[in-house]
Amino acid sequence: MEEQALYGARMMQPGLTTADSEENSLRPQHLEDYIGQEKVKQNLKVYLEAARRRGEAMDHVLLYGPPGLGKTTLAGIIANEMGVQIRITSGPAIEKPGDLAALLTNLQEGDVLFIDEIHRLSRQVEEVLYPALEDYALDIIIGKGPSAQSIRINLPHFTLVGATTRAGQLTGPLRDRFGVLLKLELYSPDELAQIIRRSAGILDQPITPEGAYELAKRSRGTPRVANRFLKRVRDFATVLGDGVIDQDVCLMALRRMDVDELGLDELDRSLLRAIIEMYGGGPVGLETLAAALGEEAVTLEDLCEPYLMQMGFLTRTPRGRCVTHLAYEHLGLRPPETLAPEDGGQQSMF
Ligand code: ADP
Repeated sequence: MEEQALYGARMMQPGLTTADSEENSLRPQHLEDYIGQEKVKQNLKVYLEAARRRGEAMDHVLLYGPPGLGKTTLAGIIANEMGVQIRITSGPAIEKPGDLAALLTNLQEGDVLFIDEIHRLSRQVEEVLYPALEDYALDIIIGKGPSAQSIRINLPHFTLVGATTRAGQLTGPLRDRFGVLLKLELYSPDELAQIIRRSAGILDQPITPEGAYELAKRSRGTPRVANRFLKRVRDFATVLGDGVIDQDVCLMALRRMDVDELGLDELDRSLLRAIIEMYGGGPVGLETLAAALGEEAVTLEDLCEPYLMQMGFLTRTPRGRCVTHLAYEHLGLRPPETLAPEDGGQQSMF
């Protein structure tokens, strides 16, 4: 069973890669340092304050939204703000009910248990989780057949923070047991520019406001992408520039990384091109498209589609995925006559 911890000395646990600990160093630890997601923050502040005043553990929280938007970070913040420990694990890492029982019985009063990819818990494990969430108890069956007995073990009052890319993937009974549901949205370029400037400060890396904004515009609404670009552009600035990240270095580095002016990378463009060239602009089913591109459907759905839809390049219809007028234009292709400009979906946010 894989378990990680976020902060402090426990960060040095085996199993944590350098990339993980670098990511951890950039994570805000308090709500006031968490940039953007204003609605989520305002509500969370109230729930945290209420739990603190009552001296209770915070209710169970489900965070949902595309990868890299700050779900793990927010779980750490909830623990920090409540002054408790956090235990981190993920749905696929909890293989058997016994794994979950071991995790739960090791929690202290008030602790946060963070389960990433919670939609991937097995049915068997989920069933052990229900009484734990509702009654803070574990029902354990001892023995087999007619002599089997069920004993109940009381657990400390803990807070489960679950994260998933799509709340719709959760079973109804599990979803209903979360008292707080928070949906994270893609970030605006202004918010991402703030995140980039904050991360650059932590990395002791000089960056101009124009440089930060250039990276922000191309980070597809995602802090993890923004931080990754910052680190790579820092390499270009160190080796090929004078160490400062300005707009020129950003433009050069992003061109060399095949990231276009709206932040689309090679995979995004291949996806749009495949729909246009192989399926006449769509509709085409996700699985068919994934097979044509040699990618996993979940990669396309979680990593590419949220941003392509937000930019108005892609629409999901009951019959499959379709590209829009704007996608043709962005790729420098002529839209077919039959595709009216108003099929261009929602207007780009940027
Ligand atoms: P998720 O769990 O949703 O995949 P993470 O919490 O791991 O995303 O966040 C990815 C990275 O983005 C982290 O390194 C974190 O520093 C950064 N990050 C995410 N959200 C914010 C935010 N609101 N403010 C500042 N940095 C953020």
